[in-house]
Amino acid sequence: MIKRKKIIMPARKRIALIAHDNMKIGLLAWVKSHLDQLKQHELFATGTTGHLLKSQLGLDVQAMISGPLGGDQHIGAMLTTQSIDMVIFFWDPFEAMPHDPDVKALLRLASVWNVPVACNRTTADFLISSPLFSTAHSYEIPDYESYLRERTQA
Ligand code: PGA
Repeated sequence: MIKRKKIIMPARKRIALIAHDNMKIGLLAWVKSHLDQLKQHELFATGTTGHLLKSQLGLDVQAMISGPLGGDQHIGAMLTTQSIDMVIFFWDPFEAMPHDPDVKALLRLASVWNVPVACNRTTADFLISSPLFSTAHSYEIPDYESYLRERTQA
């Protein structure tokens, strides 16, 4: 059992926005309805989602490479270094994707690193209306240093 340690999630969150193709209109609509609030935070996205957010809504968002080309894995890697504090991921429940393993890996890492994830609009509404959305928040993550100590002690 991995020990855990407390860290502080900043008030200004680093938020990843991702939507599968059939869900992009829904994500754009959700972002549009919360534009002022989201602009207070640092935004990241997978490639196509990010470019749509920039071109349609004029949002300042850092777009990674496209999801099927590794964007989900990139966001997943950022979860392991506490570089992303929240994931809004409208994945498509009605279509199999060539990069389903990457999607699963991203969702798994969000669980490992105790990062809040919204996979649909209602959950996203709950997250954005929480007082914790714009305040610092203490939470627990795996304590890798103690894990390493235990595994490397003679
Ligand atoms: P996209 O990737 O924003 O580049 O379309 C999303 C995904 O399929 O994970």
